Amino acid sequence: MRCKFCGRDADIYIPYPRMHLCKEHFIVYFERKIERTINRYKMFSKEDKILIAIGGGKDSAVASYILKRFGYTIEGLFLDLGIGGFSEKSRRYAEKQCKDVDIPIHRVEIRKLFNRGINEVKSSRPTCAICGATKRYIFNKFAYDNDFNVLVTGHNLDDESSFVLSNLINWNIEYLGRQGPILPGTGKFIRKVKPLYEVTEVEIKEYADVIGIEYISERCPLSKGEKIPRYKHVLNELEKMSSGVKINFIKGFLRNRHLFKFDLGKSSILKECKVCGMPSQGEVCVFCRIWGLDKPVELKVS
Ligand code: SF4
Ligand code: ZN
Ligand code: ZN
Repeated sequence: MRCKFCGRDADIYIPYPRMHLCKEHFIVYFERKIERTINRYKMFSKEDKILIAIGGGKDSAVASYILKRFGYTIEGLFLDLGIGGFSEKSRRYAEKQCKDVDIPIHRVEIRKLFNRGINEVKSSRPTCAICGATKRYIFNKFAYDNDFNVLVTGHNLDDESSFVLSNLINWNIEYLGRQGPILPGTGKFIRKVKPLYEVTEVEIKEYADVIGIEYISERCPLSKGEKIPRYKHVLNELEKMSSGVKINFIKGFLRNRHLFKFDLGKSSILKECKVCGMPSQGEVCVFCRIWGLDKPVELKVS
C-alpha cells in the first residue's frame, strides 16, 4: 500500500478516515490533529504556565513531547501513589520522559505525605474512587499553589468516549455536564484541558513508537474489576463494525452537552473546606476526609 500523501510505501494504516501513511506523513497528520484540537477549544497559549500530569504511560509522554515541540511552557508533575513496584517503574519512565524533552519534573509522594499507599486507606469507597479523588485534588492544588494556570492531562478519545458511555448508562447527569476537552477554571479550580481528546489510543501508540518514546505499558495492578476497560472493549467492537463510531459519538455528545447543563460557578461546590481552604461541597472536602487531615497538605515548591 502507498502513502496517501507522497506515494511511497506506507508504514501505518489509520482505520478512520481509512488512510495508509508513511511514517513522515503520519507524524504530520497526528501533530496537526493535536494542534487543531488545541486551537479549536482555545486550550492555552504561549503565555500560559502549563502543568502536565505525567504518569509514565504513553499518553502523557506523547502530550508532553508534542507541547514542548510546539514551544509551550510546560512542567511535569508525577504523583507517586505508593503502589510498590508499579509506582517505582512508572516514576522511572516519567523521569526519563521529562528529561528527554527537557522539562522540569515535580514529584508528590502519597506514602511520604500520609505514611501509606493509595490501597492502604481504610474506607468504604473503592480504591479507584479514592485514587481518582486524590489525583484530582493533588494536581489541582499543586497547580494552584505553584501558580500554574493550566493543567493538562493525557486523556484520549478512547478514555473520553468510554467515560461518556459509562456516565450515560448510569445517568450521571452532573458528570456528563462537566465532561469535555476543557473544563474552565474558576476560583481555586485550575483550567483543565485534554489536547489528545480527538486521537485514539492506537494512534498515540503508533506516534510514540515512530518517535521512539519509551513508556510503561503494564496496567495498574489495582485496575482489576474496573468497569471502564469493559466500555472501551464495547466501543472497540463497535468501531470494528463501523469505523468512526468513537469520534462521531463524542462529537455528538459535545453538540448535545447543553442537555446536561452544569455550571461550576453556580453549583454547590462553593464552600471552602475548613481544613485546607479548597472548594468543597461540605464543611470538609472529600480529600481531607479520605486522608483524615487536620491541616492542609503543603505542595508549594520553593
Ligand atoms: Fe488509581 Fe490504579 Fe485505580 Fe487507576 S487503576 S484509578 S491508578 S488505583
Ligand atoms: Zn508519505
Ligand atoms: Zn480539604
